[in-house]
Amino acid sequence: MAERYSDRPGIRRWQWMLILLGVVLLAAVAFWIVVFRINAFSLSVRLYGEETMELDYGESYCEPGAEVVLQGTLFWKNGITPKNARLEVTGSVREDTLGRYTLTYTGSCLGLQAQAERRVCIVDYQCPVIRLSEEVRNGKPGEITFTAVDNYDGDITHRVKRIESPGKILFSVVDSSGNPAYVEWEIKDYDPTPPEIYLEGGDRKVITVGSFYQEPGYYAYDDADGNLSEQVQIQGEVDWLVPGLYPVTYTVTDSHGNHATAVREVEVAAKPRPEIRWPREKTIYLTFDDGPGPSTRKLLDILDQYQVKATFFVIDTGYGSIMKEIVDRGHSIGIHTVSHDYQAIYASPEAYFADLLAMQQVIYDNTGVETTLLRFPGGSSNTISRTSCEGIMSILAEAVQNAGFQYFDWNVDSDDAGKARDAETVAKNVVEGIENSGTSIVLQHDIHSYSVDAVEQIIQWGQENGYVFRALTENSPGFHHEIQN
Ligand code: ZN
Repeated sequence: MAERYSDRPGIRRWQWMLILLGVVLLAAVAFWIVVFRINAFSLSVRLYGEETMELDYGESYCEPGAEVVLQGTLFWKNGITPKNARLEVTGSVREDTLGRYTLTYTGSCLGLQAQAERRVCIVDYQCPVIRLSEEVRNGKPGEITFTAVDNYDGDITHRVKRIESPGKILFSVVDSSGNPAYVEWEIKDYDPTPPEIYLEGGDRKVITVGSFYQEPGYYAYDDADGNLSEQVQIQGEVDWLVPGLYPVTYTVTDSHGNHATAVREVEVAAKPRPEIRWPREKTIYLTFDDGPGPSTRKLLDILDQYQVKATFFVIDTGYGSIMKEIVDRGHSIGIHTVSHDYQAIYASPEAYFADLLAMQQVIYDNTGVETTLLRFPGGSSNTISRTSCEGIMSILAEAVQNAGFQYFDWNVDSDDAGKARDAETVAKNVVEGIENSGTSIVLQHDIHSYSVDAVEQIIQWGQENGYVFRALTENSPGFHHEIQN
């Protein structure tokens, strides 16, 4: 029994080796069939984080990462991450530029390949910022300046729109991504309403030449500032001596710069002039200036005696009762002057008219007659007045007529205020003067007794020579002198 196997034919050692090899080969084939045929593998890339990411401009992109996953149908159903798998990321995200970016993840393992994509959007949802400031100039609010800055676009001031509406200004802007911004500016002390001007007496006023124009009054009111009457500016002058239409403009501005204007139209109207009727007969108009005086009553008696009517251009000498007698005895009364002071009355048209109207009032007060007859002191041809006010007689001669007065000069001068100092000379001067004219206005002064004494002689001569004596009326010829100023 030394050799247990020696004579018995059995499976030899190499045969066992061969069987073992066959079994291993079979097992390997079975494994390959199971793993690669029955259990199918697949490779995928699994992204960490969102597949689509949105980043606000300014945020930085932080890669969330990804992994390669190998899955089988029989086992590793949930997938495994092979250690030798490769993952490559292509593409990039530019954080400083708005847009859509794609990142591609490519995984490979065991000869398999897989891809995944991630989309990253850089967006701008941030609105621009509008800043306003008010420039104050000289303590008053001025222009509103503005700037608009956007986180992405930068300075977009040029895109700002400005819309004004009552009481406020709206500033708006939209950035390149469509993000809007609005700012409203409230106008301080907003006052859109201008003041109002009320003209007392209305917007039209008619005065006659020679009546001084006096501002009838006005009132200005503003809803915010209240009474602005004292701030009203008046423009336009009314020439009360010359007929015409004179606009007077009233303006006022409230503290918010709103203006108001009102216009008053002042018409300076000329009174119609009476028709001049020349007498048919040879006519003598006796006129007496500068009275009444101590001799006037005597004169009235003489005139009565011959039934002659005359005209008295009176001054204010305290003989009011005789003025009344002049009128009562049927004579005409006219205005000469209050003071007979050339310097004073011819200082200006205003001064003259003041004197004229005052004397008209004196006569009215004494007689009840509102006379429109007048004689200029010195006559309209006087040259004294120009030393006080050059050219004044041209102005006055027109103005008094437009004011409804009639002025009378003379064509026969008795010279009783000059060289004729006795009744004989006065009468001689008058008769000579009348003889040369068909109709005469005779100048005498009843304050001189010698002149009064000449009247009877003059009347007698006139009546003997076929003259009639009349008092002046507004229709009588004026015998206007040539003005010499
Ligand atoms: Zn006089």
